[in-house]
Amino acid sequence: MKGRIVSLAAGSQPDSRSATQYRMLSRLFRERLTREMAFSMVSCVHCGACAQACHYALARAHDPCMTPAYKADQIRRMFNRNMNWICRILSGRLNAGTSAADADMERLRDIVFGACTGCRRCTFNCPIGVDNAALIRFTRGILTEMGVVPEGLSNASRNQWLSGNQMSVTEEEFFDSLDWIKAELQYELGVGDLDILVDKKDCDIIYAVNPREIKYDPHSLMNAAKLFYLAGESWTLPRYGWDQTNFGLFSGDDRLGAFMAGNLYRAAERLRARRIVVSECGHGYRSVRWEGYSWANNQQTIPTESVVETVMRYLIEGRIKVDRLRNTGSVTFHDSCNVARYGGLVEEPRWVLKQVCSDFREMYPNGVNNFCCTGGGGLLTMPEYRPLRLEVARIKADQLKVTEADTVCTMCHNCRDGLGDLIDHYQLNMKVVQVMDLVAEALVLPPGNEGNINE
Ligand code: SF4
Ligand code: SF4
Repeated sequence: MKGRIVSLAAGSQPDSRSATQYRMLSRLFRERLTREMAFSMVSCVHCGACAQACHYALARAHDPCMTPAYKADQIRRMFNRNMNWICRILSGRLNAGTSAADADMERLRDIVFGACTGCRRCTFNCPIGVDNAALIRFTRGILTEMGVVPEGLSNASRNQWLSGNQMSVTEEEFFDSLDWIKAELQYELGVGDLDILVDKKDCDIIYAVNPREIKYDPHSLMNAAKLFYLAGESWTLPRYGWDQTNFGLFSGDDRLGAFMAGNLYRAAERLRARRIVVSECGHGYRSVRWEGYSWANNQQTIPTESVVETVMRYLIEGRIKVDRLRNTGSVTFHDSCNVARYGGLVEEPRWVLKQVCSDFREMYPNGVNNFCCTGGGGLLTMPEYRPLRLEVARIKADQLKVTEADTVCTMCHNCRDGLGDLIDHYQLNMKVVQVMDLVAEALVLPPGNEGNINE
């Protein structure tokens, strides 16, 4: 991977597909350019402030190719070569990109998919308002359309198109997992009336999950089912449209974004649900709560929230009781970029954590200034970029170490895996959990519901 990153510097050789790709690239630039993108294309003054914001640039301070401005400049070279008529005529003299450099799609792919998690920290730190993260996603979308996309990302996207979920979970697997969760919970709580309903009409909540909760990690969904049962909630999962994740966000493909978010919106409409709740997933939250409504051109007619906000409501309304002494270890919180910086949820998870843990400690910087877990932007599905990802994860590892906490908590499945990976790599003495794990541990069961909880 180190060799590959060295090749991010401009000037690689053209490949045989150049002419066709060049024409396609020109067309896609013309068709997709928005006013916001055009602004970011032309407004950078190269002050360098964003270099201090990016974990890639900070961890590889010796490598100018890792600065957000450099990465965006590689996109600008393409833009100038294709969109600016002066540059089209005088491209060589203006260093706007030669046809050879323009044709080097793979180099651009390694930049926009392999050297940026789309965390948007650079955008927040640009005095001009240049949105490098949006430029990166815009370019990912163009490369995806051209088929120049990492295989892992492409496979997960294809799964979503074909099966409606990123892991191609079949209906049989879906119902098997629900049956198993139901049986476990009935035993744990010693109750027979706990159910997990699918496609039930007129519920207060339609709940959407990350497919890993069905395929690999049923405890997340189990925690939610337990919470809903104790709160006396009327809720359902949809038979189709239950995957709240969205590879359209990572690949830059707004049509996939619209398809996936639209599946859930249509399910909510069909089942006449009164609220959409998504499990703990950063990019899923951003996709369903914010971006999806515009991708799918859908009016938001019912509230949409994260399950962490649901927990907060229940606690305020007195629908559940918790005991913070059930979680006595030291806990710090990692803000997912998609939840905090893009989604504006900063205080809510902290409020909940302070109710369910007795030793909560902040990590710095935090909230909208937090550093990425380094697994964002779909990076976990692209093993070819793992060495670089773990190298630049040093910034996050240092941040975690200073807290001296036993546990880092996050409200995102993706961050959980990203953090777990770097904790192993840097041999930190720390475990990773999600907010709902700590909530489930702290839940006080009403008399009669203790069942077999201690077994
Ligand atoms: S901070 Fe903004 S203006 Fe300065 S180099 Fe970065 S993108 Fe360009
Ligand atoms: S979006 Fe994040 S990872 Fe990408 S260039 Fe900006 S700061 Fe770096």
